[in-house]
Amino acid sequence: MFDIGVNLTSTQFAKDRDKVVKRAVDAGVTGILITGTNALESQQAQSLAKRRSGYCWSTAGVHPHHASEWSAETAATLRRLAESPEVAAIGECGLDFNRNICGPEQQAYAFNAQLELAADLQLPVFLHCREAHDRFLAILTPWLPKLPGAVVHCFTGTKAELEACLAAGLYIGITGWVCDERRGLELRELMPLIPADRLLLETDAPYLLPRDMRPRPASRRNEPCFLPHIVEQVALLRGEEAATLGQQCDSNARALFRLNAQ
Ligand SMILES: [Zn+2]
Repeated sequence: MFDIGVNLTSTQFAKDRDKVVKRAVDAGVTGILITGTNALESQQAQSLAKRRSGYCWSTAGVHPHHASEWSAETAATLRRLAESPEVAAIGECGLDFNRNICGPEQQAYAFNAQLELAADLQLPVFLHCREAHDRFLAILTPWLPKLPGAVVHCFTGTKAELEACLAAGLYIGITGWVCDERRGLELRELMPLIPADRLLLETDAPYLLPRDMRPRPASRRNEPCFLPHIVEQVALLRGEEAATLGQQCDSNARALFRLNAQ
C-alpha cells in the first residue's frame, strides 16, 4: 500500500521525521510521495525523498493557498527540481475556493502555469480541488491530452463531480476523510463507484487523522503508518479484501508516477 500524500516537510514532523518513516515501513506502507506545496517546501520535499531513495518520492508545486507566491522564479525552481529522479509529479496545484486564501484569479493563473510546466516536462500532476469543481475542470481539461497522467488528491466531491473526474480520465485520491461517519457520509457511498485501476490512497498526514482511529493519538497528528486503517475502511466500503486493495493501489501509484524501485 502506497501513501501518495504525506506532508513530511510539515513542522509537525520536525522532531521525529526518521521515526515517522520507519513506522510507515513497519506498518507495511510500501512507498511515500512527499507533497511539495510551495517552492521552498518542494525543495525540502525533494531532499527528504533523496535521503530515502527508492522508498520516498516527492512532488514539486505551489498549492492554491500559496498561489500569490507564483513567479517566473518559482517556475524556474520547479523546473530545476523536476530534473531530480525523486520528483515524480508537478503539484500540489489546483483551486481551493473553500478558504480562498489567495484570490480565485491568482489561483487560476498559478494552476494553469503549473499544468503548462507539467506538459512541457511530461510529468503527471498532483491536483487539489476544493469547492471549485467547474472552474477546476475547465482549466484542466484542455491540458489533459498533453499530460502523462493526473490525480485529484483528497477527493471529497459529490457523485456528479466524481463521475466528471472519472470521465476526464483522472485518478482519484482518497484520504481518511472517508472514515468520518458525519462529513464523509456521501464520500463513503461513492467508494464502490471508483474503478480499481483509478484509485489511490493517502493519509495527507499530518492532517486528516481518521476520525475513527483507535487508539486516538494524543497529538491528533496523522501519520503515514495509519494508512492501513484507511485501506481497511475503503476495502470494507468496496466489498474487497484489504490486502488486494492495498496491492492494487500500490501498482496504481507506481503506474501513474512511473516509479520502479521498491
Ligand atoms: Zn490538498
